[in-house]
Amino acid sequence: MIPYGRQDISDDDVATVVAVLRSDFLTQGPEVPRFEAALAQACDVPHAVAMNSATSALHVACLALGLGPGDRLWTSPNTFVASANCARYCGAEVGFVDVEPDTGNMSVADLAARLAQAEKDGTLPKVVVPVHFAGLSCDMAGIAALAQRYGFRVIEDASHAVGGRYQGEHVGHGRHSDITVLSFHPVKIVTTAEGGAALTRDAGLAQAMQRLRSHGITREPSQMRGEPEGPWYYEQLELGFNYRLTDLQAALGRSQLARLSDYVARRRALADRYDALLQGLPLCTPGRRSGVESAWHLYVVGVDEAAGAPPRRQVFDRLRAAGIGVNVHYIPVHWQPYYQALGFRRGQFPQAEAHYRRAISLPLFPTLGLDAQDRVVAALREALRP
Ligand SMILES: *Cc1c(COP(=O)(O)O)cnc(C)c1O
Repeated sequence: MIPYGRQDISDDDVATVVAVLRSDFLTQGPEVPRFEAALAQACDVPHAVAMNSATSALHVACLALGLGPGDRLWTSPNTFVASANCARYCGAEVGFVDVEPDTGNMSVADLAARLAQAEKDGTLPKVVVPVHFAGLSCDMAGIAALAQRYGFRVIEDASHAVGGRYQGEHVGHGRHSDITVLSFHPVKIVTTAEGGAALTRDAGLAQAMQRLRSHGITREPSQMRGEPEGPWYYEQLELGFNYRLTDLQAALGRSQLARLSDYVARRRALADRYDALLQGLPLCTPGRRSGVESAWHLYVVGVDEAAGAPPRRQVFDRLRAAGIGVNVHYIPVHWQPYYQALGFRRGQFPQAEAHYRRAISLPLFPTLGLDAQDRVVAALREALRP
């Protein structure tokens, strides 16, 4: 089976992790700050706060922005559940914004329409979480203009998008947002097994997130309410969590990060090749935007029944039977029983639902060979026969 995504672990990665295993610190040692410095440099942003997952980073980001009971967070339904769940951890309500049909990214037009209505109703969101679907940045300038006008904060869920660019700047640079969240799960662009990070240009937010990932504790005298009673002294200022990344994971992450631009270049070359090889088939290939370079976490095609393709389910089953480990991204979050129980209904976000109904994610990862990619395309061609 050719999987849809797969990590790439080099001998250097292994040696780096083994060296940490034999060192003094397995966690809370020097590797986490080193990884954070490398991440901040790679994304051209002043502050990176590493955590044990993107889910933890989203939670802490929401808390740092003051999201709480009575507040609202909006995201798009075409995402993993974590992009919405972070609001629920804080006791806030979730709302959704529909997506652009060709990219699966949050639609700025739909966001604008919903904000205008919410302003009348007194239900404006405190935080909006645009998700850079498949690695392509959302229209951040458009979202930031609305953030100015309506006074909400922005957390970019860039779990798919590290190594991508938006208008010449690295995703994570943060010109148009407060915080950017990354994931280092093995199917993402670089991995630490489990892991994530929050990036920000704001020193105060970085400090708050550093505390919240570690029990709400500070050892910095300048942050303390009282005088330090000695070198052992620390203070818990608020209720935080243990969301720390280990030194083993951080070392793996730093070793992986050295290959970030190679990874993205390889993914882009494979995506361009898919675009060329799939021409003329009854498929929608991924939408692109000028000035935006995707990190190509996923290559998602839309099975176009109107153009004569068989139903998506049939195409999917044929591909799996042919040994192609395709997947589907994403079941709309508001369809999940948990969100249905909160009052959401099918049909509420038609573009995200239509996107889901036609989507198939083809194998895409840096070590996918051209022969293997040709096999995927041949199997897809076969699977699309009436
Ligand atoms: C993977 C993913 C997450 C969660 O990442 P974890 O590191 O597994 O917690 C959140 N949002 C999106 C869009 C993702 O793809």
